[in-house]
Formats: sequence, C-alpha cells, structure tokens
Amino acid sequence: MAADEVEVQDNEMPDWSAYRGVLIVVEQREGEAKKVSWQLLGEGKKLAAKLEVPLLALVMGDKVEHLAQEAIYYGADKVYLCESPVLKDYRTRPFSRVCLQLIDKVKPEIVLFGATGTGRDLAGAIATHLPTGLTADTTELDCEPHPSRLLLASRPAFSEKMMATILCKQYRPQMATARAGVFQAQSRDTSLQAEIIRIENPMKEEEIAARVLDFIRETGSINLEEADIIVAGGRGLGGPEAFAMLKDLADALGGIVGASRAAVDAGWIKHEHQVGQTGCTVRPKLYFAIGISGAVQHTVGMTGSDIIIAINRDEKAPIFQFAHYGMVGDLFKIVPQITAEVRKKRG
Ligand code: FAD
Repeated sequence: MAADEVEVQDNEMPDWSAYRGVLIVVEQREGEAKKVSWQLLGEGKKLAAKLEVPLLALVMGDKVEHLAQEAIYYGADKVYLCESPVLKDYRTRPFSRVCLQLIDKVKPEIVLFGATGTGRDLAGAIATHLPTGLTADTTELDCEPHPSRLLLASRPAFSEKMMATILCKQYRPQMATARAGVFQAQSRDTSLQAEIIRIENPMKEEEIAARVLDFIRETGSINLEEADIIVAGGRGLGGPEAFAMLKDLADALGGIVGASRAAVDAGWIKHEHQVGQTGCTVRPKLYFAIGISGAVQHTVGMTGSDIIIAINRDEKAPIFQFAHYGMVGDLFKIVPQITAEVRKKRG
C-alpha cells in the first residue's frame, strides 16, 4: 500500500447498549434561554421517538430552575438541573465538568448543543475529554433506528457546495452542535409534566482559574437568530443608503435589518446581517424580503419564518413563491408608505 493510502475498515460496531437517550444541553445567559435550545428539544424529540428513548435536557446556571420547567414545556421527558453560584456566568471548565459528569452517569447516546459561541466552546471542550467525535454546525439531523442507532448529522461542506452526512460509528455519545434557526421548537405546552433531577456542581470556585470580571456589550451588534421581526434588503436597494429606509421600517416595527448576500458582498451592510446558506438561518414571526429575488441560498435561511412579505418590482421573482403576501412594485415607493402607516397605527 502506498504511504499516503489509508486502509479504512468498517469494523463491527461495539456494543453500545449501555448508552440510551437523547440529551439536549440548554444554553442560557442571565437566566434567559437561547431559542436554539428549544429548537433542539423539538428536533431531539423526533430523534428520541425514532430511537424509542427519552428526551433529556441539562440546565446549568445560577437560579435557573424556571428554565428546567420551560424545558419540560418544550418537550423534555426528564431534566437534569445543576444550580450553583459557580455557574452564574459561562466558563468552559465548570460547565464542561458538569456535562462530563452527567454524560458519564446517564450515558446518553446522542448529545446536542446549539452552534452558538458558547455551545461551540462547550461541545469542543467536552469532545476533547471524551473518546468521541463532534460534528459542528449541523443543519440536518436524523438517525437510523435500532439496531445501528446512528446519528446522521449533516452540514454544508466544500464551501457550502454540498451536504456531508457525518457518522460516529465507533464511539459514544454521538455529539453535534446545530445551527440556530434551522430546527423548529414544538409549541410550548404548560400542561406537560416531567421529572426534574438536581445534580451536584462538581467544582469549587477556588479550583477555577478564569474569572468573569465584567460584560461589555458590543454596541450596534445584532442577533438575527433571536429576532421576531426582520426587514431584509437585497441588491434591489441599489446601494447602502437605502438600508436607512429599511432601518426606519424595522424601528417602527420593533425589528432588525437583514440582508441578502448580494447586498453584503457589495459592501452595503455587514455580514452579521446576512440571511441564508452562508449567513444566518432565521425563524422570525415576520420577515420582509425587499428587493431580494429569492435565490435558493437565500430562501434556505428564511422559509421557516411565520409570515413572509415580499416586495419586488418583478412579478416573476422566485421570492413570491415563498411569500405569504407579495407586493409588486417599486420598493422606494412602497417601503416609506408602509413605515408611515405603521407609525400612524402605533401613534
Ligand atoms: P438579485 O438576485 O440581484 O435580486 C435583486 C432583486 O431586486 C430582483 O428580483 C429585482 O427584481 C429586485 N429589484 C430591483 N430593483 C427594485 C426596485 N426598485 N423595487 C423592487 N424590487 C427591485 N445569498 C444570500 O442571500 N444568502 C446566502 O447566505 C448566500 N449564500 C450563498 C452561498 C453560495 C455557495 C452561493 C454560490 C451563493 C450564495 N448566495 C447567498 C447568493 C445567491 O445565490 C444570490 O446571488 C443572492 O441571494 C442574490 O441576492 P439578491 O436577491 O439581493 O439579488
């Protein structure tokens, strides 16, 4: 065999019968959960049903019992709750120690995290301690039923030109981080009941080298994934100035501004506003697509929106196939009229 050839053997799968259950690690900041956690519970529920196992959630923090309850309302069959002042703010070591301790004790076959900054850090730290793999930034999750029980974790690869499905055959648990906004949370049902199990925090403050001294909020930074209303603009705006018009509408509605890649690539607006395959996946209650044609790479990131309103002067623009409401006409005439109308209504 040549030196650069690798012999890949598809060995028989080890006996993983001790590992059962799908665990979602709930992410929170200052007692408020990230939406991706509830979205993962929604997706995890489907995996758990297919594997005929319970859906588990882990909530970590200080004074976060209400989130354990919320996890039940969003579908968890059992919630592990670790509360301690040590866990008030996210730090890699204490949070990963809680996860590792729980994984060791409960042995879930699948563990999922949000692909947020915190989720990526935490999942990466855990994966370095466990003899297992981690698929980052997945956008599709499925699993094979018994007996293989394999997690099929898919994500864009090769500059987003194709989807790769990654399997972890030889190790457990199977772990993945998942993009926010891609999966749908099940509706919050306050009649749901489940057990909350308190677990010990294994680390003392004096054992942790890192201290959180302060949070400095970045001014002007946006969080599209958590937004309820997005007013997005594309190449049809013709230049950066027209984004001020979109900002007016967004402000009137209490929303934020999004953009197509064409607008971002043209340098009219920052990449953090980009919606789509190489930007954010969003699920707002209301999404305006203004001067956006509706290319698949854009629509893949916004079709989960509850209501889509498209404004385009081309009545054949593909965006109208995805819109619940469409307006054919010049955006420069239509948008200021909507903004004025919203302002009038809101007083
Ligand atoms: P265009 O397609 O040029 O559409 C402009 C629209 O504005 C037209 O429909 C036109 O009729 C309308 N218009 C013009 N003037 C007016 C007016 N005065 N009033 C009303 N309507 C008007 N794109 C993304 O958005 N997000 C991504 O994440 C993304 N990732 C990509 C990844 C890859 C690997 C590739 C290859 C492409 C990606 N793209 C992405 C690019 C995507 O293919 C499209 O090129 C892009 O979405 C087009 O942006 P647009 O709709 O703003 O521009």
